[in-house]
Amino acid sequence: MSSDLYLATGLLDALHFAAGKHRGQRRKDSYASPYINHPIQVAELIARAGRVSDLATLQAAILHDTLEDTETTFEELKGRFGGEVAEIVKEVTDEKGLRNETRKRLQVEHAPHLSSKAKHIKIADKLSNIVAVTHTPPKGWSKKRRLEYLDWSEKVVAGCRGTNEKLEARYDEALHECRVILWK
Ligand code: ZN
Repeated sequence: MSSDLYLATGLLDALHFAAGKHRGQRRKDSYASPYINHPIQVAELIARAGRVSDLATLQAAILHDTLEDTETTFEELKGRFGGEVAEIVKEVTDEKGLRNETRKRLQVEHAPHLSSKAKHIKIADKLSNIVAVTHTPPKGWSKKRRLEYLDWSEKVVAGCRGTNEKLEARYDEALHECRVILWK
């Protein structure tokens, strides 16, 4: 198989799988956008802003919320996409059953210890989320809560720095724009 075809079929396979797993789920914004838009955006940011074409990274980006938010198991990901992709997704998955504050604290603490591929996903995930929280916030989120989310994301990203200069610069730009909008 040519490398272009390998990349194309690998990405489509991940999209097909993730779209099926997230079917019926919606983002918390007032448009209730289909959930799959978010993992697509995370993969797109890594490819476009980060200039990354590594298949495992992009597949794991598309699949990054399947363990946390759907019935998908690690074994299922491993069987379909291989051990590397399954491990990356596991790295960016929060432990279940923890309180929100604990979950948030652990993300900050764990960030520096993630693999480079997982760090790409963390940065792009936070970038996607701060834009969503700023422009299409979940119902009922006050300005204060949205600004706190931005501050927390910055701490997580701080632990991922030195991974991809262009992607980090894009996050920094977005963070600045989001703050300017929310400070108004
Ligand atoms: Zn996500």
